Amino acid sequence: MDKVDFYGRLTSQEKEEFERKVHVFLLNVRIRGIQTDVSHEDKILIAAGAVIPVFRFSSWNYAGLKEVQLYPDKFQIPESDQMAHGLVGWGAMEGIVMLSKKAVHHGFHDNTDNKNVVIHEFIHILDKQDGKIDGVMGNAMNDVDLMPWLHIINIKMNEIDFGTSTIRDYGAANRAEFLAVVSEFFFENPERLKSEHPGLYNALDSFYGEK
Ligand SMILES: [Zn+2]
Repeated sequence: MDKVDFYGRLTSQEKEEFERKVHVFLLNVRIRGIQTDVSHEDKILIAAGAVIPVFRFSSWNYAGLKEVQLYPDKFQIPESDQMAHGLVGWGAMEGIVMLSKKAVHHGFHDNTDNKNVVIHEFIHILDKQDGKIDGVMGNAMNDVDLMPWLHIINIKMNEIDFGTSTIRDYGAANRAEFLAVVSEFFFENPERLKSEHPGLYNALDSFYGEK
């Protein structure tokens, strides 16, 4: 767990709680290697990335998640000729998350780039709980939160388009990617996000905070 910065910032009591949630995740979700073996460290990093976004929720389980498939490196997106480092399955692949082992380790190794593929994909799963991957989490954002959130998204996506943002470009792809990208930033470098994007930080802090 020493590679997980988020864990390193927790109190000793919270660390125990985090370890318990990682354990429960691993009891419930199978991690299967595709043309690669799955090490203990692979499992811990994937479970940690799954637990981080929901750690402050009083109760949470990734209902409907059947399996994580771990590939050695980039893999082909089903029914496409494109490659990806991470993907939430749909259709016949519903309930399956695909991850590249290389990207999983890179995500936890470099905590300065605000990139973490495991957190990214699990944010998409959270986003999907209300039926749509659209950058709005129906269950974590109530109606009161929604209008200012959509307003923040528009402003921040425009800043990326104008090239004046410290949020990486992929965040401007669409609202769902915006949510995933800024959430990676939030969980990897909360202090930096707070100083550079205080309004966005406050919005994310209320979504992912204690409920
Ligand atoms: Zn994405």
